[in-house]
Amino acid sequence: MKGFDYASLADYHLHTPLCRHAEGWPVEYARAARELGLAEIGFADHSPMPQFFDDWRMLLEELPRYFEAVEEARAAFPGLPIRLGLEVDYLEGQEEWIAKLAGMAEWDFLIGSVHYVTPDWAIDNPAHISRYNDRPLEEIWALYWKTLEKAIRSRAFDFIGHADLPKKFGHRLPGNEGERRRMLDPVIRALAETGTAIEINTAGLRKPIGECYPTLEFLTLAREAGIDLLLNSDAHAPAEVGAGFAEGVQLAREAGYTQLVRFEKRKKRHVAL
Ligand code: ZN
Ligand code: FE
Ligand code: FE
Repeated sequence: MKGFDYASLADYHLHTPLCRHAEGWPVEYARAARELGLAEIGFADHSPMPQFFDDWRMLLEELPRYFEAVEEARAAFPGLPIRLGLEVDYLEGQEEWIAKLAGMAEWDFLIGSVHYVTPDWAIDNPAHISRYNDRPLEEIWALYWKTLEKAIRSRAFDFIGHADLPKKFGHRLPGNEGERRRMLDPVIRALAETGTAIEINTAGLRKPIGECYPTLEFLTLAREAGIDLLLNSDAHAPAEVGAGFAEGVQLAREAGYTQLVRFEKRKKRHVAL
């Protein structure tokens, strides 16, 4: 975006073609970041599973290619700090595998994301959108929050990806303010108690819901609870690097945030917003 100053911002949620639904190699994302003037970037492609699991993530044997691709970007843009991360799928019972993954590289950060609310339903998969009609929306959200709380309490993650993902196709969190608070409170508490950060993920702006994840309501509760924040694009193409950052910064400020965080070797650092 012209006239917007990216110099104090990082974008830590970038994908690669290894996940089979993104385009452009890390070198190209780095070039885009450089053109915008971003301070830092980080790659966080969809984590491998021990065996073939679905067709939208890298295979375990592709992990070395992932490291290599990030190294290629570092070599091409030595002035740009490029962090190594992973968007790790949290499914109940996967804690042991996630611990193994955490030891497979010197990660700068691990994102914990809940896409699957049951082993066969990824709530953000457009092919499965009709499943939202299978049961009451309250039940789907309750299941999602319960899984997300477990992900947070596993303490395996530096920050949580797109915290209110089930709204992607327009299925907003139902209920009045009090009912929504009762749904959100346990998640906010888990974040605060474990020191896990969250992201404003601007990909929601490019989806039917047309707004960032999570809501201003969630972000305001998070800020009041002292939870740290990042701003990320979830880019699946180089042209999406830094996308929606003007809206994201505005949202963060509206929620009362004055700082964002960055990670290096899983150590957190605060930067003024
Ligand atoms: Zn993806
Ligand atoms: Fe995701
Ligand atoms: Fe992602």
